[in-house]
Amino acid sequence: MKEQQADTFKCEICGLHYNDKIDAQKCQEWCSKHNSCDLEVTARSIEASKSHHIFS
Ligand SMILES: [Zn+2]
Repeated sequence: MKEQQADTFKCEICGLHYNDKIDAQKCQEWCSKHNSCDLEVTARSIEASKSHHIFS
């Protein structure tokens, strides 16, 4: 069985992961409305925290 990352929330639209459910919901709301990413929200994603140079 594949081990899944615990306590992370995924935006179903852009696929970014968040530690905070509210951030994930914000991202998903934004993505569905604007079809693009809000940098203020995506900066809090787990992916962004792993690669500062991309989202700085
Ligand atoms: Zn998103």
